[in-house]
Amino acid sequence: MSKKVIVIGAGISGLKAASTLYANGITDVKVLEARQRIGGRLRTVTGFNGKQKYDLGASWHHDTLCNELFDEEVELNEGAAPFIFDDDFNVYIDKERGRVDMHPDMRLEFVDREIEKFTDMQYHQRLDVEDMSFFELITKYLFEKKKFLTDDQIRYTPQICRFLELWHGFDWKSLSAKDTYFGHQGRNALVLNFDVLVKRVAKSFPNEWIQLNTSINSITRKGKEVLVTTANGEAHIADYVIVTIPQSVLELSLAADKQIPGRIEFIPPLNKKIIKGLHSIHVGSLGKMIFEFQDATWDANHTKIVTLAQSSDKFAQIVKDATDYDQLVKDLNVLDQQQDENCWKHPFYFINFAQINGTPSFMMLMQEPVTRHIESLNGDQDKIFDYFQPILDKIMSTFGSDSVINGIGKDITKDGNHAILKNILSSSWTSDPYSRGSYTACKPGDDGWDMILAMNEGQDSRIRFAGEHTIMDGAGSVNGAWASGRNEAEYIVNHSL
Ligand SMILES: Cc1cc2nc3c(=O)[nH]c(=O)nc-3n(C[C@H](O)[C@H](O)[C@H](O)COP(=O)(O)OP(=O)(O)OC[C@H]3O[C@@H](n4cnc5c(N)ncnc54)[C@H](O)[C@@H]3O)c2cc1C
Repeated sequence: MSKKVIVIGAGISGLKAASTLYANGITDVKVLEARQRIGGRLRTVTGFNGKQKYDLGASWHHDTLCNELFDEEVELNEGAAPFIFDDDFNVYIDKERGRVDMHPDMRLEFVDREIEKFTDMQYHQRLDVEDMSFFELITKYLFEKKKFLTDDQIRYTPQICRFLELWHGFDWKSLSAKDTYFGHQGRNALVLNFDVLVKRVAKSFPNEWIQLNTSINSITRKGKEVLVTTANGEAHIADYVIVTIPQSVLELSLAADKQIPGRIEFIPPLNKKIIKGLHSIHVGSLGKMIFEFQDATWDANHTKIVTLAQSSDKFAQIVKDATDYDQLVKDLNVLDQQQDENCWKHPFYFINFAQINGTPSFMMLMQEPVTRHIESLNGDQDKIFDYFQPILDKIMSTFGSDSVINGIGKDITKDGNHAILKNILSSSWTSDPYSRGSYTACKPGDDGWDMILAMNEGQDSRIRFAGEHTIMDGAGSVNGAWASGRNEAEYIVNHSL
């Protein structure tokens, strides 16, 4: 196997591609990575006491009934990343009402499920139905079914549905209604932690193949060969290149400004199918926070907590009074615009590590536009705490603790039953030039197929693509990215020079 291969990017797709090439006897390979670390959107960090580890990128093996990476992990005798099935029902907390989940008078979960079915019936029975935002779709449901709903159900169920913002990374007004619900292929397993898996895959091929701090500038097809140049002036020639940079970074190749960090100039330019694909799908902005406390002063019986965006009786009244759907959408938009921009304007998803493994911490997922705002604070812990304090206090009071005291950098370890905050860790996926967001997501009217088909065909027979945005099974996920790297490596193994 005398083929020379360059893999661009040392995320899980690039690492798996290199691993598969090595396993198939290809020995002339370089993995060129812009950052000074491997793993890409798998990033494990250490907490304030130097012991606890957290993932700021992916956390779960999804779809474990058909997740090949998960299957591989569980078959290993040693070296697999530990995981647990963190199954639990969501606890929903409203600012005024407190817990509204499993509420005997409201039964919101039943209405939530009906909205999912309503969406399914809108889009999955006919192909020609126009997409709309998730907000518009929920409004449509409320408009059509309000006579069967109580005021409380009208008020709170939309906020419960908005939990899905924390899967896609967009808020409900930017999210495609057609794409919002997706069937889970099995339960989710929380990985503790993904660095173990990254290291295992990276160890399965020669370490010297990986070259860090090497951002790629250009990829030129020259006859049968491909020339790759780097920002630090190196030139590499290969028979094949596998480009695994995120979709958000690939998009920069269409930008006129050639100086944007991470941008790759393709010569000849990206083909028409790829350009069409890039125009037909977006990248979400899921972000993560870790709140670390001195001790768990709260009740540790629940793993999953969703704080709901604030709603009002006025919302239910406007819905009840509506006689025209389009006018209702406008009126609810006006109501929304009247609400102050603060932490109660958005839902957030908390994972209670005190329940999972006794660690006094919460992991929190956030979405656009909050992610961009919080990540732009560059880890300023006091500012981040100021933003989230009302929500953290509400969680504490719901679960039997006194309010949160900011003990970051201070010598406070105990104050009655107050929760003493010691550290905040924040992701930076939107501000990082080599990710520029979280993973692929659909805005109204988007269609992921164009992108996936274009990525599968590649730029040409020698310039190939892998990554979470290039595959249907496991799209957006670690297992999809991993499988795409394997698939492209196998293509090269089986393709004659
Ligand atoms: C907050 C968050 C939560 C998530 N949660 C989950 C989850 O629970 N479960 C799940 O399955 N998935 C989850 N995901 C998605 C998952 O992390 C990704 O799908 C997967 O890690 C992507 O791998 P990849 O190899 O495609 O891309 P990446 O990991 O991004 O790898 C691409 C690599 O290319 C490098 N690169 C970029 N530009 C250049 C350049 N010009 N030159 C050289 N190198 C370059 C980057 O530095 C990076 O290392 C989450 C993602 C985020 C951000």
